Amino acid sequence: DSKVEAPQACGVSATDLHPCFSCTGAHRYARIHLPVAPDCNIQCKYCVRKFDCPNESRPGVTSQVLTPEEALQRFLDAKKRLSNLTVVGIAGPGDALADFDKTRETLRLIREHDPNVIFCISTNGLALPQYADELVALGVSHVTITINAVDVEIASQIYSHVTMMGMRYSGMAGAAMLVSNQLLGLKLLASRGVTCKVNCVVLQGINDHHIETVVEKVKSLGAAITNIMQLIPVKGSAFEHLEMVSAKTINEIRKRCERILPQMYHCKQCRADAVGLLGEDQSLILYGKKEPVQE
Ligand code: SF4
Ligand code: SF4
Repeated sequence: DSKVEAPQACGVSATDLHPCFSCTGAHRYARIHLPVAPDCNIQCKYCVRKFDCPNESRPGVTSQVLTPEEALQRFLDAKKRLSNLTVVGIAGPGDALADFDKTRETLRLIREHDPNVIFCISTNGLALPQYADELVALGVSHVTITINAVDVEIASQIYSHVTMMGMRYSGMAGAAMLVSNQLLGLKLLASRGVTCKVNCVVLQGINDHHIETVVEKVKSLGAAITNIMQLIPVKGSAFEHLEMVSAKTINEIRKRCERILPQMYHCKQCRADAVGLLGEDQSLILYGKKEPVQE
């Protein structure tokens, strides 16, 4: 591996060095997900909380949760071994903003040791309006927000409840709060120069006819790319028996949406503790796990 220079030094943008936001970067640059965020502030009907957040990660396994100090150590170890490591991501196993203290402290500690590594987080967006400015101040340049609907009635079929300031809101009230915070959060970040990707999980009979509307809306608010994803049904979730939209249909939707915004075709729905090149998890080497993670 050749040493990766800081974006400023080699004249390429941070997005070129991010394997998830750039197709060409995907084959060269590695990311590390640090699993410091176990909590979640909403309940998606396709999620069972004993697994990694399926908005960003494939369900089926739970990442061991790290403290910010342990996460720093894991990053430093990985950096020693992977000279092509360009991105630190916080993608759960819950929501990166549900307990922001842990995410903030992790990023702060890492920035003390590395002024250049790209910071990326993924979130359901509920707490984005509250933390957008802090994320920018911490140097977070890339954010993934999962927005499955921009219509409140459709959203109310996807989420059981949201929790804000210790209060739980369900039905249309919860969905309205979530959708408006997601859209406001996206706008705040994009207007401050953060590169935003929007993930959208396609749910048969619920939002499958609504995806282009989501893509149009998020484009108008500054999203750079969308990642239209297949639902992976999770046993025990409310959508356990929801029929999966076929890969062919997903690709047809992506093709239609490509006329609106660039599409991500190479997402591997990685674990919340994935490390290495996309699709080549190196956690066996780095963390001494017995079984390599299948990506
Ligand atoms: Fe599960 Fe992620 Fe939804 Fe939270 S945001 S309920 S962790 S899928
Ligand atoms: Fe990138 Fe998708 Fe993996 Fe996230 S889940 S790190 S977007 S490839």
